[in-house]
Amino acid sequence: MNIILFGPPGAGKGTQAKILIKTHDIVQISTGDMLRDEVNSGSNLGKTAKSIMDSGGLVSDEIIMSIIEERISKPDCQNGFILDGFPRTLNQAIALDDVLANKNIEIDHIIQIDVDEKLLFERIKQRAEEGDFVRNDDNKDVLIKRITVYQKDTMPVLEYYRSLKRLKTVDGMQSIENVSSDIKKMF
Ligand code: ADP
Repeated sequence: MNIILFGPPGAGKGTQAKILIKTHDIVQISTGDMLRDEVNSGSNLGKTAKSIMDSGGLVSDEIIMSIIEERISKPDCQNGFILDGFPRTLNQAIALDDVLANKNIEIDHIIQIDVDEKLLFERIKQRAEEGDFVRNDDNKDVLIKRITVYQKDTMPVLEYYRSLKRLKTVDGMQSIENVSSDIKKMF
């Protein structure tokens, strides 16, 4: 089973992805994690990506498509995968269509974890007050920028899948368990 999972920063996308990979024995393809690995390895790609990621912006579509194409071709993807954090722009979504068509791969479920962005901003402020941030790109201002980038660049991707009648939406304002059981009901 192949899945695309959408959700703004703080929507619990990573948590749901972890549950799904266990229950369906599939792999998680997180472009954010792959980019962080590149940064930690000190590669040229990592060096280019780091400052963009730290500021909350988006890494170029070319870089993202090259890492996705390579990753999707690996044998461990054969039983299925979850795309987490990708596609994040309309160009990436259209490029993905091509990659999938060439490889004869179909996406079974495209799921949006829908949350109230006002509430996300509240959560961020609260976490900032509690001193709860760990990642470089996880401070208050950068998180707010990332949510804004999500609205501007990723919402059009959701509209694209919605117009193709492919998008399924789950209410992300519920408990982890309830979001997870709502996703299960879609399969
Ligand atoms: P989130 O916490 O929102 O899930 P990620 O871990 O997916 O964030 O991504 C962290 C950062 O990595 C993003 O803010 C962006 O700079 C970069 N990134 C990840 N995936 C993509 C992508 N598909 N296109 C462009 N940039 C990306």
